[in-house]
Amino acid sequence: MSGSVGWNPWHGCTKISSGCRHCYVYRRDEMVGVTASSSLCRKTKAFDLPVRRTRDGQWRIEPGKTVFTCFTSDFLLTDADDWRPACWDMIRRRPDCRFLFFTKRIDRLAECLPADWGDGYENVTIGCTVENQDRADYRLPIFLALPIRHRTIVAEPLLEALDLSPYLDERIEELDVGGESGPGARPCRYEWVLSLKEQCDEKNVPFSFHQTGARFVKDGKLYLVPRREQHKQARKAGLDTPRRTRLRPSDRVVYGQLRLEDWQNDCFKE
Ligand code: SF4
Repeated sequence: MSGSVGWNPWHGCTKISSGCRHCYVYRRDEMVGVTASSSLCRKTKAFDLPVRRTRDGQWRIEPGKTVFTCFTSDFLLTDADDWRPACWDMIRRRPDCRFLFFTKRIDRLAECLPADWGDGYENVTIGCTVENQDRADYRLPIFLALPIRHRTIVAEPLLEALDLSPYLDERIEELDVGGESGPGARPCRYEWVLSLKEQCDEKNVPFSFHQTGARFVKDGKLYLVPRREQHKQARKAGLDTPRRTRLRPSDRVVYGQLRLEDWQNDCFKE
């Protein structure tokens, strides 16, 4: 069994850096008509999803799944400090699933780790998000110094040209790049994407161009790319290289389809 599911143990997040300006959590909340503030972090009904069982005693999340964790918040948000230990416990109880979370708060990871973390849990992949050079130079040295078994870097929304070469080595399982979506999206330039692809090729780090974003500039021309086309157009560029992660190429696409469903099923039935 493979494929992916979303697990959002809490919902809502506070903005922390430039990449948060047009946060999709805020946009989706508005779209779906959530009245509570998107900055208010609250536990969802899906909190214990990884350890729920079906009537016949099977895990509700089937073995082998990739579990996209906390994609309507940040797993390392201070507001969730009291709830996170229970999540680590659930992750520990499901070594048959791979948990993945992205964070803009990697500087909090050390204080958020469980006592038995050691060199990292084998079933956890952590993605450090960087949107500009300033945040890359702050977050990535911290990220590389931490005990983590599986690391990816997420340059999304990509807001400027980046030099990530000092941080790319065999410890990075993938660099995932994408432009910004939604109304008011800041433009992403193709030459920035190509430069990161070249940096990855030089360091033998797998590369993935995840989405163009809503405003994509190529050969000096601005393209307004509809949401449904952003993944497709990025794939068409043909820049992706073979992955070292256990995530399958289709997983991000499946996750994209699950997001709204997660919102409806998990986040608004508190
Ligand atoms: S850290 Fe992520 S979820 Fe939180 S406000 Fe920023 S973009 Fe949104």
